[in-house]
Amino acid sequence: MKTKMKVPLSSPLIGEEEIEAVVDVLRSSQLSLGPQTEAFEKAFAKTMGSKYAIAVNSGTSGLHLVVRSLGISDGDEVITTPFSFIASSNCILFERATPVFVDVEYDTFNIDPAKIEAAITPKTKAILPVHVFGQSANMTAIMDIAKRHNLYVIEDACESPLATHHGKIVGTFGECGVYGFYPNKQMTTGEGGMIITDNPEIERLCKSYRNQGRGDSMQWLSFARLGYNYRISELTAALGVVQTRKLPEIVRQRAAVADMYFERLKGIGGIKLSYPQPENEQSWFVFGVRVNAEIRDELIKRLNADGIQSKAYFAPSIHLQDFYMEEFGYKEGDYPVSERLSREMLILPFFTMLNEEQVDYVVETLVGHMKELGH
Ligand SMILES: *Cc1c(COP(=O)(O)O)cnc(C)c1O
Repeated sequence: MKTKMKVPLSSPLIGEEEIEAVVDVLRSSQLSLGPQTEAFEKAFAKTMGSKYAIAVNSGTSGLHLVVRSLGISDGDEVITTPFSFIASSNCILFERATPVFVDVEYDTFNIDPAKIEAAITPKTKAILPVHVFGQSANMTAIMDIAKRHNLYVIEDACESPLATHHGKIVGTFGECGVYGFYPNKQMTTGEGGMIITDNPEIERLCKSYRNQGRGDSMQWLSFARLGYNYRISELTAALGVVQTRKLPEIVRQRAAVADMYFERLKGIGGIKLSYPQPENEQSWFVFGVRVNAEIRDELIKRLNADGIQSKAYFAPSIHLQDFYMEEFGYKEGDYPVSERLSREMLILPFFTMLNEEQVDYVVETLVGHMKELGH
């Protein structure tokens, strides 16, 4: 009998440096709006190669502020995909605009550029591609379409810090890129997010909106516009400074973990692997394989019984979430590729410190169960 191991789906990489940085803030008595936030923004902008970075309290807040800062509002349409985490679509609804879905490609899980132009109408204001699982969408094609139709591009780069497309870092193609730092992401601050842009007007607006709409003088009780409290604390920012420094190494280590999976899973019947496109350098967020939809949920159950956490992700596709179906009348079959991925995708344990022994155990257990289920 083989020995059981516990392998979680994800696990943040937090070291002594992060702990010390947070403790230092606690001792400093400046817990918000201070030097750590500025240092985090500066370091992040430098790492990504953008002019500005604006720290916020989540990736979702970042997406919302970008949509708002671009003046996207009632009656406007934004093109995005249904195979994503719900925030990339909800941020459009927050400003009462309409998300218009375009289906994804079966092999990259990203928006299918060949289907974008058919979705453009006179109301379209922006394209919001999501770099799913850490691989860049086809930004060459997307930027070309956006230019021809005079549309903004908002990149949801929450799953893809330091991913590149033809050597250029994602998040820097469009008007803005947005990142999230939830604990399952490549780098984490517990909760947190970042907007990057080269546009000084967007930087000015996002900084105001995140801080209750405060005027440019940033006087405590002078408000120029309707804003929010989307600030991060200095504790969060201190974590972010250290994690930003570690990010390139984290991305390298995760690529090595992905390679371990590829080596062991290649050629195994019933498992479809997704290699990054040759023009993309992937920043691995999760490791997903596609399996027969009929056995996917049973596999998740059996892996769990063996101590291995896995997940159906993204399932369901956004357009099949109850309130999207109610509000927009979406039904099954509207976006068949996204729906198929929602049924077939199996997310395996994946994190920076996942070791060879754990990967072996996951792969052996997975393959064993697939055989038992006749695949
Ligand atoms: C993580 C994530 C976000 C942001 O999530 P928050 O929890 O708000 O930080 C947005 N879009 C995608 C695609 C994500 O994976």
